[in-house]
Amino acid sequence: QAKSGGERLSFYSPEQNAAMMAKLELESLLRRACEEQQFVLYYQPKIDLGSGRIAGAEALIRWIHPERGMVSPAQFIPLAEESGLILAIGAWVIASVCAQQAAWQTAGVPVVPVALNLSAAQFGQGDLAAQVASQLAAHRLGSDLVELELTESLVMRDPAGAGQTMHQLRALGLHLSLDDFGTGYSSLAHLKRFPFNSVKIDRAFVTDITTNPDDAAIASAIIAMSHNLRMLVIAEGVETAEQLELLRSKGCDLIQGYYFSPPVSAAAFAAMLSAGQGI
Ligand code: C2E
Ligand code: CA
Ligand code: CA
Ligand code: CA
Repeated sequence: QAKSGGERLSFYSPEQNAAMMAKLELESLLRRACEEQQFVLYYQPKIDLGSGRIAGAEALIRWIHPERGMVSPAQFIPLAEESGLILAIGAWVIASVCAQQAAWQTAGVPVVPVALNLSAAQFGQGDLAAQVASQLAAHRLGSDLVELELTESLVMRDPAGAGQTMHQLRALGLHLSLDDFGTGYSSLAHLKRFPFNSVKIDRAFVTDITTNPDDAAIASAIIAMSHNLRMLVIAEGVETAEQLELLRSKGCDLIQGYYFSPPVSAAAFAAMLSAGQGI
C-alpha cells in the first residue's frame, strides 16, 4: 500500500527501508567474504554412546568478518541461499572438508567421518555427486570420511531429483543423514523412500526430554522407527548428563551437543582426536 506524505510517496516504512538497506549491505559484505575467503569451519564432535568415543563430527561454517567479528550461519546462510551465493559457499565447504581430512590423515591424526551441511540449491544444480567425487579424488580421500546432512524440506522441494542425486552419492560410498528430523511434516515411513543412513533428532525434542513426556515419547518413537528401518540415530543439542542418560536408555546411538563439546576450531578438534577424548 502506497503511503503519501506531502511530496513523499513511498511504498515502504522507514523501518522496512532500513531493514532492506541492512540486508543489501550484508549481501555485499557476503559477496566480498566469498572473494576474500573469510570463512572457516568449526567441528562439533559426535559421541558413540556404545564406545564413549568420538565417532564423527559435523562441520559448521563460521564467517569471520574483519570488523564485525564472527557472524553466525543462522544470520547469513538464509541470505546466501536467497542470493545464490550458497553455491560458491557450499563448494568451498565441500573442498575444505576434503582438504582438512586429507591434511589430518597425512599428519597422523586418527580421523573420523566429518559431516557437512547441504542446501537445496546444491542439489538443484545437478552435478553435486560429480563435484563431491572430484574433491575426494583431488585429495585422495576415501568416501567413508565425508558424510552429508540434508533436511527433509530440501528433499521434499524436488523429491525425484533429490532421490536421484542421493542414490548417486550413496553409490560413491557417502553416508547421508536426515537433519533436524521431527521439525517438518513428513513421516519416517515416507522418508524411507530415500536412502538415508542415519536420522538426527532435532534439538527441539531433546531440550525438554527429561521434563516433557511428549518429547520423550517422540524421541522414543523416532529411535524405534529408525532402528526398524536400519538407520542410526543421532540426538542433537544434548546439553546435560540427564538428557544423555535418557537417550542412552532409549537406545540412541550417538549424541552431539554442548554436554560433550560445542563446535571448536580445526586445531582444537584434531587435539581431541589425538588425545582419544570421550565420555
Ligand atoms: P544445524 O545443521 O542444525 O547445526 C546444529 C546447530 O546447533 C549448530 O549451530 C550448533 O552450533 C548448534 N548446537 C550444537 N549443539 C548445541 C547444544 O547443545 N545446544 C544448543 N543450543 N545449540 C547447539 P550453528 O553452527 O550456529 O549453525 C546453525 C545452522 O546453520 C545449522 O543448523 C545449519 O542449518 C546451518 N549451517 C551451518 N554450517 C553450514 C554449512 O556449511 N552449509 C549450510 N548449507 N548450512 C550450514
Ligand atoms: Ca546439520
Ligand atoms: Ca540439525
Ligand atoms: Ca537445526
